[in-house]
Amino acid sequence: MAPKKITCLECGQLNRVPEEKLSSAPKCGTCGARLLGGKVAEIDFATLQKAARNDDVPLVVDFWAPWCGPCRMMAPEFSKAATELAGQARLVKVNTEAHPKAGASYNIRGIPTMAAFSGGREKARQSGAMPSASIVNWVKGAV
Ligand SMILES: [Zn+2]
Repeated sequence: MAPKKITCLECGQLNRVPEEKLSSAPKCGTCGARLLGGKVAEIDFATLQKAARNDDVPLVVDFWAPWCGPCRMMAPEFSKAATELAGQARLVKVNTEAHPKAGASYNIRGIPTMAAFSGGREKARQSGAMPSASIVNWVKGAV
């Protein structure tokens, strides 16, 4: 079976992980960060583009900004969902204030907005804050 392409969310390196290693906490070959740790990573525009285009593991992006109250309220729920979805999807956050190109490039009109990428394509998009159970259900239905 072909190895799975997984972008390291810490250093941006594209890793190729053999299928049988996916369940044994694979690490980035460059920086050693865990690739499927179930923790929410804050990523920049370059890493977002790379992971959304290449990764074989679904990527769920929370577009947010520090000034957005609902975004801050949703953060712990998003983290909970990331733990629950560990191994099935990776949940990341993109700060649209720090990385305005990301919001523009993906045509984000309001925040929070979540977008689910799989197989190099955007599969679904959802606006508004949600509790963790709803996030998990939405992700499972989307990818
Ligand atoms: Zn790395």
